[in-house]
Amino acid sequence: MHSDRLLLGPGPSNPYPEAVEALSRPVLGHLDPEFLALVADTAQRLRTVFGTRNRLTLPVSGTGSAGMEACLASLLEPGELAIVGVNGYFGERLCEVARRVGARVQAVHAPWGRPLDPEALLDAQSRAPSARLVAVVHAETSTGVRNQIAPLAALRDTDTLLLLDTVTSLGGIPVEVDSWGVDACYSATQKCLGAPSGVAPVTVSDRAVRRIRDRERPVCSFYQDLSLLDAYYQGDPPRYHHTASSTLISSVHAGLGRLLEEGLPAVWERHARVGERLQAALPEHGFEVFAEPGHRLPQLTAARLPAGVVDAEARKVLREHFGIEVGAGLGPLTGTGWRIGLMGHNAQNRAVTTLLSALPSLL
Ligand SMILES: *Cc1c(COP(=O)(O)O)cnc(C)c1O
Repeated sequence: MHSDRLLLGPGPSNPYPEAVEALSRPVLGHLDPEFLALVADTAQRLRTVFGTRNRLTLPVSGTGSAGMEACLASLLEPGELAIVGVNGYFGERLCEVARRVGARVQAVHAPWGRPLDPEALLDAQSRAPSARLVAVVHAETSTGVRNQIAPLAALRDTDTLLLLDTVTSLGGIPVEVDSWGVDACYSATQKCLGAPSGVAPVTVSDRAVRRIRDRERPVCSFYQDLSLLDAYYQGDPPRYHHTASSTLISSVHAGLGRLLEEGLPAVWERHARVGERLQAALPEHGFEVFAEPGHRLPQLTAARLPAGVVDAEARKVLREHFGIEVGAGLGPLTGTGWRIGLMGHNAQNRAVTTLLSALPSLL
């Protein structure tokens, strides 16, 4: 049994048809010139969606978490300070991974459901100017909150790098790596990019590449060492590091092709429209949207369930009778809320209509 679900959770989303079709292409060797050309063209497409000219831009093997670990492990050395914005589950995850690579962590908190205060992050950095990096989640998938990144461009004039998680934002809302002064940024392919999971797009600024080159100790992870990945995919000659999957990269390449053919502004507009429609309709069904108005993501809506609805039971009916997956709540919404994604290929009116027409029979 292998069902065909409508995936309206926090990811994965249903991939674009072009990305699915590409999965059946013949496998290429991981050092085949055709494969390396495919990687190079994928990287070029990624530069466009990231809004960057960074030379070191790669599809890293692994899911979004691999991108997070590759950036933190490559940029931080044991004992260095990382300042992390925390207003949800994925901010907490950044702290956890930074500690595991040996960094000291200073969290700058905002309540779940509210955005981070960029001034508080900049203040923390000016009180600790030797901090190696400030790390922030752009789209907090646990709450549906959009954090403001542009003011953090001020970090460009300091010795502290800016690391950004765009796992849920890339391909759904504008991301401007170069104009926001972002030094390292990772994403995932199964959310708004509309491809299967298994690849983490990563981009790193030239100044962050120099920091990696000038490390005192080698990166603690061989697999996630961005300098070795650079030497593999972009070295002359390319140097074997691991057996990257041509199947997944082909699929991501095709998904990005579809996205860029539609055009980034049109894709963002499509996400904005369906998100607005869903968030306007949910209260009519007794749901309460969790994120503070004015700071809501269109592609991910966390909402408290109407009183009397049993979370796990309602999600089971939705899955088994309607073939629709939504996500469980996290943090303050555990057991009392849902996370509904309208990402990539699923950012369509028909997905909203299908979900809304199922709700009355659940509630
Ligand atoms: C999903 C997600 C991750 C983790 O990505 P995986 O692909 O599940 O490893 C990290 N950060 C954010 C904001 C996410 O939404």
